[in-house]
Amino acid sequence: MTQYQIYYTVIYVFVFIFGACVGSFLNVCIYRLPLGESLIKRNSHCMTCGTEIRKRDLIPIISWCCLRGKCHSCGARISPRYTVVELLNALCYLFIFWHYDGVILLIPSILTCLLFSALIVVFFMDWDTQLINTFVCVFIGLLGVASIFLMDKYTGLTLKSHIIGFFVVSVPLLIISLASKEKAMGRGDVYLMAGAGLFLGTQGALVALAIGLITGSIGGIIMKHSNGKSQFAFGPFLSIGIAIAALYSREIGSWYMEFTGLNELLADAANAIMI
Ligand SMILES: [Zn+2]
Repeated sequence: MTQYQIYYTVIYVFVFIFGACVGSFLNVCIYRLPLGESLIKRNSHCMTCGTEIRKRDLIPIISWCCLRGKCHSCGARISPRYTVVELLNALCYLFIFWHYDGVILLIPSILTCLLFSALIVVFFMDWDTQLINTFVCVFIGLLGVASIFLMDKYTGLTLKSHIIGFFVVSVPLLIISLASKEKAMGRGDVYLMAGAGLFLGTQGALVALAIGLITGSIGGIIMKHSNGKSQFAFGPFLSIGIAIAALYSREIGSWYMEFTGLNELLADAANAIMI
C-alpha cells in the first residue's frame, strides 16, 4: 500500500464511522419528532421496559450485533431498523465521499451528506406516520441556500435555476393538494419538493419528481397486491428521487434528451429561429 492509499483508507473508515454515529441520531429524530419529544433531553431507553440503554450499548451497528438484537435488561427484541438506518447513513456518506472525491471537494460532499441524512429521516418518518416534518423540510431548504453560495462553482447551477427549482414541482403539487383537500397529496410533499428544488435546481427537481412518480407507482402496485391498501405515503419515493437527482440529475437529464430525441428537436428549433 502506498502512503496515498493508506491516507484514503483512513479517511473512508472515518467517514463510515461518522456516518453511523449520525445515523444513530437520525433514529432519535425518526422516533421522537412525530411524538414532539426533545431530541437532546433524556437518554435512549428500551421501548418495552423503559430501562435506560447502557453507555457501552450505544455504539452504532456493533452494539445491536453484540446484543443479538435484544434488550440487555428485559430481552425484548430490538428492531433491526435502528441498525439499518445507521448502516444506510454510513454507506450513503461513504458513497457520496467516493462520488465527489470528498478529500478534494469537501464542501459539496458535506452538504450532500446532510441532504441524504434529512432524506433518510423523511423516508422512515413518512413511511411510519404518513407525515413529513416541516422542520426537516426547512432544514433541506437551508441546505439549498447554502448550496447557492458554496456549491454552484462545482455544479454550474445558476441562481435562476435554484429559484425556478423551488417552484417548478412544489406549485403543481400544491395545486393538487388544494384541489384534493390534501387527500391525493399532503402539504408535507409540497414543502419537501420546495426545499429540495432549491437545492437541486430546475432540472434536478424535475428528475426527482419523475423518479418519485416511477418508483411510487411501482411501490403502490406492490403494496396494493401485498396488503390491499391503495393509500400510501409519497414522501419516501420523492426522497429516493431527490437522492438520485442530487448525484445524477445532469446525466439522467441529458440521457432523457438523447433518448427522446428532444435535443435534436431543440437544436432544430434553435436553428429555425436563427434563420
Ligand atoms: Zn427492555
